[in-house]
Amino acid sequence: MTYVSAQLRKLVIERANQRCEYCLFPQSAALFSFEMEHIIAEKHRGSTEAENLALACPYCNRAKANIKTRRNYHKLNK
Ligand SMILES: [Zn+2]
Repeated sequence: MTYVSAQLRKLVIERANQRCEYCLFPQSAALFSFEMEHIIAEKHRGSTEAENLALACPYCNRAKANIKTRRNYHKLNK
């Protein structure tokens, strides 16, 4: 897995309001730390940049093949 810089990680976490971007579960209520997840997998040529990264709880990270983020794309900072 490609290294995600601390700066990029921070941006994604703040954008997600520290919630899983799939199920919206808050990181603060979780006993485990969330993961930085490629929406389009790297093996499918997904890039390591903010728009292709989502904060995901471990459950969604494993299940994500069948679900989509609830992110509001129009709110993305460009
Ligand atoms: Zn989740």
